[in-house]
Amino acid sequence: MSNSRITRLLHLENDDAYHAMSMPIYQVSTFDQHNSNAFEYSRVQNPTRRYLEAQLAILDEAHAAFAVSSGLSALNIVLSMLKAGDELIVGCDFYAGLSFILEEMCQDRGIVIRQIDLQEPHNLTQAISAKTKMVLCETVSNPLQKIAPIADLAKITQACNICLVVDNSLMSSYGFMPLKFGADIALQSSTKYLVGHADVTSGVIATNTRFKEKIAKIIRQTGYALDPFQAWLLSRSLKTVHLRMAEVTKNAAAVYALLKASKCFKSIYYVGDLTQKHAHWLSENCESLGGLLAVECFNQAQFEQFYQKLKSYFPKTVSFGAVHSSLSHPASMSHKDVQKLQQIQLQVSPWLLRLSIGCEVLADTLTIFQEFIDEYNQTPKAAKAEKTENTEEKQGCKKSINQY
Ligand SMILES: *Cc1c(COP(=O)(O)O)cnc(C)c1O
Repeated sequence: MSNSRITRLLHLENDDAYHAMSMPIYQVSTFDQHNSNAFEYSRVQNPTRRYLEAQLAILDEAHAAFAVSSGLSALNIVLSMLKAGDELIVGCDFYAGLSFILEEMCQDRGIVIRQIDLQEPHNLTQAISAKTKMVLCETVSNPLQKIAPIADLAKITQACNICLVVDNSLMSSYGFMPLKFGADIALQSSTKYLVGHADVTSGVIATNTRFKEKIAKIIRQTGYALDPFQAWLLSRSLKTVHLRMAEVTKNAAAVYALLKASKCFKSIYYVGDLTQKHAHWLSENCESLGGLLAVECFNQAQFEQFYQKLKSYFPKTVSFGAVHSSLSHPASMSHKDVQKLQQIQLQVSPWLLRLSIGCEVLADTLTIFQEFIDEYNQTPKAAKAEKTENTEEKQGCKKSINQY
């Protein structure tokens, strides 16, 4: 039997002249080609990046993987394969940072965008037309953790010869392998779990298909490739990705169990919540679930109490997936400029906090939540306010959170 992905990744040899045990950083832009044509120019290819890309291909079990400057550039590269008149189908709650590319760059180029709920495969069957060229979905959406049934969607796109692109950032290629379930292109923001230390912005595109040559050409000719130093940092991070993912998955599951059992919250969105659609399928087919949770409070008073409690332990950051825990407030951060395409994202509650659970000692993390639960349960009923929604209060909150 061949070794598992991680063992192959750890044993991957490099061709360094001195047999260095870590692939050196080839901090160089251009190569003397009198004696070798292996490399010419680092925008085209570089030894450190080539090594990283071999590691990334192992993780995604792909024929080819490309390391680029960010998750958004990975998306932009793939979307730039579309031409005027082509139709692109996207999910309802796609990554908020993609709005500009979709609404200005793609639409200005004459690409028609249709937005449907991709949790239901029959919606896709109905939406496809002769002009549909690409479907873009997220394995798990952010922050509401909706799961796309990739295998079912792939059956439909394959039958119609349409390219299925999966943004796998919330799972990472260690956690889940979209290509194995029929996706044509798996991409991710490796800024998140693969890097895992909040110190490199980068993206990955993996594929087994004919798109390989086209993607390689776009990267070469438009200058999206990851630079040697960042490539080295990402390469280094990959050697411990399985340890970090196992830890955050365990920690997030424990936080979810505690919060759920407390019955103190309106909703908790978590990919491991087996009552949600496609969660069984994903749990059975993934290596790890990752560390994201989104917790929705009942009202402003509870939200403030919760936020004040978490503040000292959880830095407030965009992004997620680092070894340290962090929180974000989607309504005032990632989702503050909701554009017309993102109708479902309008429903992100102002009392929703997204938590990225890290690798701190679990007992310490749980203590923060247990303290909140105890304090909340002791709060007099009147001070808790009604456990009902109040729209005016919700809108007010959108503004007030910026003052925190
Ligand atoms: C973060 C993220 C991106 C963008 O990645 P960057 O590395 O920040 O450019 C794209 N898609 C999803 C789902 C993300 O979470």
